[in-house]
Amino acid sequence: MFNTKVRNIEFELTNRCNAGCPLCSRTGTNKGGLSDSVYNSGWKDLSKEVHHHVIDSLRKDHDIESIDYGGCYGDPLMHPKVLELLQYGEGIYQEVQTNASLQTDKFWKSVAKIDKLRMWFHLDGLEDTNHIYRRYTDWSKIERNAKTFLDAGGKGSWVFIVFKHNEHQVDEARELSKKWGFDEFIIKKTSRKFENGKHKTSVQVRTPHGLETISYEAPTNPEYQAESVQNSVVTEIPIDCYSEKRGTFYISCEDKIYPCCVLGKEGFKNNHIDRIQDKVFDYIDYDITINPDNNKFNDLVQKYNDREQIYRLNWQERKFKHCIERCGRDVTCQKIHLPLGEGSKKDFDGWEGPHNKRNI
Ligand code: SF4
Ligand code: SF4
Repeated sequence: MFNTKVRNIEFELTNRCNAGCPLCSRTGTNKGGLSDSVYNSGWKDLSKEVHHHVIDSLRKDHDIESIDYGGCYGDPLMHPKVLELLQYGEGIYQEVQTNASLQTDKFWKSVAKIDKLRMWFHLDGLEDTNHIYRRYTDWSKIERNAKTFLDAGGKGSWVFIVFKHNEHQVDEARELSKKWGFDEFIIKKTSRKFENGKHKTSVQVRTPHGLETISYEAPTNPEYQAESVQNSVVTEIPIDCYSEKRGTFYISCEDKIYPCCVLGKEGFKNNHIDRIQDKVFDYIDYDITINPDNNKFNDLVQKYNDREQIYRLNWQERKFKHCIERCGRDVTCQKIHLPLGEGSKKDFDGWEGPHNKRNI
């Protein structure tokens, strides 16, 4: 059901991060500014053996088009062996999500040489604003990393989440991205914590100064507002499983396989917080930790697919809370992809990643 032939995988390489974005699932009120789940779990990194085993299976038995390195709880570039992992996947389209305020010159030059790799630099503003959301990042380091990567031939996209505090800088950032050598600029209209027409959101987090309440406002320009900001009513829609449509699975930093990032995020919480699980997890009642020797990737994909009838019935009856929230309501972030033409060091060559196809 989900996918007998897998076309995409999202790997969450780690739950470590150098930044502390207040609306991220890893951020919270515990020591180190961590959420309960990450505070309780300790540091987790995807095992190299599992990564390699999945890549081998994808090449041999599936119709793999793309691999995303993102996840819910960490920045992939914090994985101790990230370069080795990315080099292993060379030849498959790989897209890596990062705040870019980390790693060495040597890393950025090496990663730029990996064929078919695209780096998404998540920069929500300029020197004077990016850190307002991407807390603890260092702009001078980001600039050096971006230029090192792009000058070494890497392909990069600048992804800009628009808030009220940075909306006046979208055009300037786009111009700067051309100058630095990006070949794509992506405007992200965020719905995270901005639902039902909500224009302001607040969250409590622990910072070096103690517990603080931090607020963000949605952009005032409707062009940059997600639909959920403009609509005060969230509409329920039939569940249309994103995992099935995209042909994807999600592999967490604990080596576990889930249909999608939402169940990955909630599954991680179930593993580390004492709470009542959503009914969807009643049907994930087997060991989902991938083991190349005795719990192989292909076998686990098959186990999900074997449960097709059960999932479909429960979706129809709207029994799975997480599935309703992710795929049964008209609340989602929207992205506008802008290829950079004139003035860019590299011409946009029309080579679209899977995100582009999905989100336009
Ligand atoms: S950079 Fe990414 S993983 Fe790190 S805190 Fe921000 S959103 Fe979370
Ligand atoms: S939340 Fe449920 S319906 Fe949506 S992609 Fe995940 S498994 Fe499919």
